[in-house]
Amino acid sequence: MNIHEYQAKELLMKYGVAVPKGIPALTVVDAVAAVKQLPGPLYVVKAQIHAGGRGAGKFKNNPAGKGGVRLCKSEAEVKDAAQAMMNQVLVTKQTGPEGKEVQRLYVTDGVDIKKEYYCSVVLDRATSRVTFMTSTEGGMDIEDVAHKHPEKITRVAVDPATGFQAHHARKLAFGLGFEGETQKSAIRFFTALYKAFVELDCSIVEINPLIVTDKGDVMALDAKMNFDDNALFRQKMVADMRDETEEDANEKLAKDHELSYVRMDGNIGCMVNGAGLAMATMDIIKLYGGEPANFLDVGGGATAERVTTAFKIILSDPSVKGILVNIFGGIMKCDIIAQGVITAAKEVKLSVPLVVRLEGTNVQLGKDMLNNSGLPIIAANDLADAAKKVVEATQKATKAA
Ligand code: ADP
Ligand code: MG
Repeated sequence: MNIHEYQAKELLMKYGVAVPKGIPALTVVDAVAAVKQLPGPLYVVKAQIHAGGRGAGKFKNNPAGKGGVRLCKSEAEVKDAAQAMMNQVLVTKQTGPEGKEVQRLYVTDGVDIKKEYYCSVVLDRATSRVTFMTSTEGGMDIEDVAHKHPEKITRVAVDPATGFQAHHARKLAFGLGFEGETQKSAIRFFTALYKAFVELDCSIVEINPLIVTDKGDVMALDAKMNFDDNALFRQKMVADMRDETEEDANEKLAKDHELSYVRMDGNIGCMVNGAGLAMATMDIIKLYGGEPANFLDVGGGATAERVTTAFKIILSDPSVKGILVNIFGGIMKCDIIAQGVITAAKEVKLSVPLVVRLEGTNVQLGKDMLNNSGLPIIAANDLADAAKKVVEATQKATKAA
């Protein structure tokens, strides 16, 4: 689960991570009123959406204008900035071309920045350790730094048996070249950040930029936090921060029906049972030159109703130009899948090629049902055959369109 920058800063502040003072606002009036509670003379109005790159982003209604992070020198400028952002669609590198509508703002103290740095904390699955990554290239995407200047990244992995120690903090501060009071401030910062990461069951915390102020203090100027969904039951404070308007409607629908669904960039929709088979299906689609539009695992004990929902979710994605249903009926029976596919395809007009590969319990019954359904289904015999057929059919359908 993701939260907004202002919520992340609220949480981090509780753990003693230094952040500039700020006030969230749901209306332009609230944004203007926030000015009175801030020290000034500089203010920053920041669009709150679940995506980064806001500063360099563009509003759809005014692409030549400023982005979603604006420095203001007066109450009047804060008002202008808030009016320009509220309820407008902001497009950034991370939102995709459709952008995201800004429904919340954050008005913060404008800080005098000496230098910007990068810092993130992730759970490195390869080493099973919470790992810090820092770089002197603040504001830049870490992927770009890793690509062009890998030597500029300091990585520090923390052994869960010892927890975060002073030497970890020193290595991080040293890596960024901090000395004197700044070094002390950084050590407090990293220590607090680690505690927040672990105690809040985070999966990612990204501070980009982490800054040193003109007075030499270390602060988080931006904050992105991502949480382990499986731990939300014990993180009520975090769970209450959920902003469903930011979530993909289909991912939400899937969650409500206990389907694992993740939208991707391609145009071949996949409906599969079992996470392993779903991964293998996506791999083989790519092997045959296609791009999957989603990961979708209907699970082992899916009912016809769940399969119907799954199929509708796939069909509601406008980028889907072909569908592959790949089911191994072990616990799940092939006739249930067939029933779900038929019901959904009839409810939502099926306008893209559909390739079905069924194997396992009641396979013949399932195949017969599909054959007699009157739906234009392309039957496949095995995984490779299915992938080849769906890639071909999708390419043909896209060319024809
Ligand atoms: P995003 O990453 O979405 O573009 P950031 O919060 O990182 O948004 O802001 C972009 C840039 O705006 C920062 O790198 C920094 O230079 C500037 N900035 C952001 N917040 C402040 C602030 N409180 N005071 C001064 N400058 C800021
Ligand atoms: Mg940022």
